[in-house]
Amino acid sequence: MVSAKGNKRRLAAMFTMTFAFFLVEIIVGYLTNSMALVADSFHMLSDVAALVVAFVSVKVIIIVIINVT
Ligand SMILES: [Zn+2]
Repeated sequence: MVSAKGNKRRLAAMFTMTFAFFLVEIIVGYLTNSMALVADSFHMLSDVAALVVAFVSVKVIIIVIINVT
């Protein structure tokens, strides 16, 4: 079974990489006037939002498990 701590570490790693891609794409997109890169950077930002939701849900389920047991 995968531990909640491991899940949180993996989510944090994905959050860091996705947010870094967002920053690189939006900066390079504006510097090179690339609409495709700017558009994809906002796609990466929506992925970051989804990872935040996943991270919060892992935190909530840990609290629920602690309070039930
Ligand atoms: Zn995506």
